[in-house]
Amino acid sequence: MTSQQQALTISCEFFPPRTEKGMLKLRETREQLQDLQPAFFSVTFGAGGGTREKTFETVLEIQKQSNFEAAPHLSCIGSTHENILKLLQDYQAHGIRRIVALRGDKPSGWAGTFGDISYANELVEFIRAETGSYFQIEVAAYPEFHPQASSAKDDLDYFKQKVEAGANSAITQYFYNADAYFRFIDSCTERGIDIPIVPGIMPITNYEQLTRFSDGCGAEIPRWLRWRLKDLADDKEAVQAFGVDVMTSLCERLLAGGAPGLHFYTLNQASFTLEIAKRLGL
Ligand code: FAD
Repeated sequence: MTSQQQALTISCEFFPPRTEKGMLKLRETREQLQDLQPAFFSVTFGAGGGTREKTFETVLEIQKQSNFEAAPHLSCIGSTHENILKLLQDYQAHGIRRIVALRGDKPSGWAGTFGDISYANELVEFIRAETGSYFQIEVAAYPEFHPQASSAKDDLDYFKQKVEAGANSAITQYFYNADAYFRFIDSCTERGIDIPIVPGIMPITNYEQLTRFSDGCGAEIPRWLRWRLKDLADDKEAVQAFGVDVMTSLCERLLAGGAPGLHFYTLNQASFTLEIAKRLGL
């Protein structure tokens, strides 16, 4: 292991399982991923509060059953100051020290309002005002820009506001174009943003799922990749083998270019992340 690899921050993201069976499966996945010595395992939060209890339970299970840090995602859309504060206090009471602070998206068909807090920078401000420096705060970053951004410049300026509000580090939306990440880092440096910005790595395991996801969140799948995947779509194993090759190359490029770590969107599966980590020699 090189000295650069020793300093890398590896983290893994889960979604909260809905069933006992899913919880048992996640426990297995987490135990396998522990070999990577991740800095933390994060757990997503359904915007509008849909997974509030399940996220909480999953985070506490990780915190209690492993020696690894658990980090809840917290999205503010549709929530009140009071509800957010209660959740922060509950996490504090259980010794949780890291939060991924997000705005969230309105779930489809949801008619609720934005709530007391409209943007992630206000959420970060609120967390800092209420809990001081207690939490390590992660925020989201978008190398290919957020799909609702008014312009690339505005999106970068708003990202800077989140950092100035007190974010310690950022995790990116997934992307398949390393240059988008490096350009984003350059633009951040020009603006004096110096927090670690860790690339988010999405497994390629299912063509249909990936295109649906990517269309929604604004992550571009390059034409060559889309077409290759389309050809392989009926052969699940071929998609996965190709996906591991593509993502390993992307990770190699990102790390060689100075990325401070990798955040794996595991989709609650260990094999893809482990295979990439093995090939990278992590
Ligand atoms: P913001 O930073 O608030 O930005 C949202 C949009 O508003 C951007 O277009 C920005 O340019 C603009 N904007 C920002 N600040 C202002 C301002 N002050 N005034 C005007 N415009 C502004 N979603 C979930 O629901 N649950 C999760 O668990 C979850 N986990 C995620 C984890 C990661 C690592 C990432 C990258 C995303 C995650 N998301 C999650 C998705 C995220 O919630 C959506 O992308 C959401 O649309 C934006 O959230 P944000 O925190 O980046 O918002």
